[in-house]
Amino acid sequence: KVSIFWFRRDLRLEDNVALYHALQSKYPVIALFIFDIDILNSLPINDARVGFIHDSLQKINAQLNAIGSSLLIKNGTTKAVWESLLDEFDISEVFYNKDYEPYAIRRDLTINALAKENNSMCFSFKDQVIFEELEIAKADGLPYTIYTPYKNKWLEKYKSIAPLPEYDTQSYFSNFHKSNFDFPTLEQIGFEESNIKVQLHNLTQIANYHETRDFPAVDSTSYLSPHLRFGTVSIRKLVNWAVRKNDVFLSELIWREFFMQILFSFPKVVSHNFKSAYDGIQWRNNEEDFKRWCSGTTGYPMVDAGMRQLNATGYMHNRVRMVVASFLCKHLLINWQWGEAYFAEKLLDYDLSANVGNWQWAAGTGCDAAPYFRVFNPDIQLKKFDEKGVYIRKWIPEFDLGYGEPMIEHAFARDRAIATYKAGILK
Ligand code: FAD
Repeated sequence: KVSIFWFRRDLRLEDNVALYHALQSKYPVIALFIFDIDILNSLPINDARVGFIHDSLQKINAQLNAIGSSLLIKNGTTKAVWESLLDEFDISEVFYNKDYEPYAIRRDLTINALAKENNSMCFSFKDQVIFEELEIAKADGLPYTIYTPYKNKWLEKYKSIAPLPEYDTQSYFSNFHKSNFDFPTLEQIGFEESNIKVQLHNLTQIANYHETRDFPAVDSTSYLSPHLRFGTVSIRKLVNWAVRKNDVFLSELIWREFFMQILFSFPKVVSHNFKSAYDGIQWRNNEEDFKRWCSGTTGYPMVDAGMRQLNATGYMHNRVRMVVASFLCKHLLINWQWGEAYFAEKLLDYDLSANVGNWQWAAGTGCDAAPYFRVFNPDIQLKKFDEKGVYIRKWIPEFDLGYGEPMIEHAFARDRAIATYKAGILK
């Protein structure tokens, strides 16, 4: 008999809750990862995120090889892979960390049922967040839809619990199954190396985060987003650090959990406005306008620099994400879902809950969103946050040679956006 630990978005051996529990099971543990072709089939063959997952798995595999074990990597639909695993091995128990996205919830229900039919037990754990699902709820048990009271309750609860244990996986390592499964190359999974890479993270650069995080030319945010997305860092360790060192940084980590619980409680936000009163907005959805936005040729330097940074690196600074998103929805009157889909294709840190949550925030259609009449002026944002033009010159090298005309005048676009929203919002 064996137990299986199933890696998903928790790609690390240390401080991994479900792995800790798996390694205490009575049976040797096989560590599994499935390249889910239902997800992979929709991605370009040089998708940088697949490369990052592959690299992270390779590191884990090397750690396992050092103790005489190895990762079992499978490629296929999750259900078919599990059917064959349940055939191939006598599996007593399956351990995994919870994932709160609608697709993952449906997938896990299917695998739980399948395991049960085969007399295997599944155990799932909270690992991706400090507080999950409805652990932070209003007095009446309903989910918060406003950030500040959510955050206050989160902080109160965090203070009142015993510090979350950091699980010591090392001492149980001998419980891994002795194996030497083949580790596939990226090509064998059907992908190619991308020239876009995830940055390594470094917490020293966020010492002045509270003062400098809004300035895209200053390298002062953590770049941890892809690591949090794929679980190559532990949220417990990070929060532990943030609580002691930087409240503003901690607040951002709480925004992450806020949007995760919104997605969990209101899964409709993936494809619908959180505020259905906004369903009547007549978006212009002009394809040519959208292309100019995507390629970073709107004539607004802050917007164009951001889109070019995204296209070249898979990353965009948060302040600039807010500006480009507002520009798409309000200046161009393009449905936020178009922008959300474009970001989903490009961002290394793409995360359904954060992306949908922030897009709906920018569009004004979300919970606790920017008011509809707030229309960022991209030139004022530039003056405030990149006064010397360091960021825009980095991404628009031709800037000093004379930059083209804006594709739409700000005052006109602002008035049009407010009028369109006003007319579209159902009373
Ligand atoms: P830091 O400033 O160092 O923040 C630390 C961590 O806090 C981040 O890694 C992230 O996990 C979390 N965080 C910070 N800001 C937010 C936020 N506003 N909402 C949720 N979590 C936050 N973030 C994603 O992780 N994935 C996305 O798909 C995503 N899409 C976005 C779309 C738009 C339109 C906007 C405005 C923001 C989006 N964000 C998204 C949030 C934010 O821009 C990124 O998390 C941040 O820029 C990542 O850089 P960092 O790791 O250096 O952030």
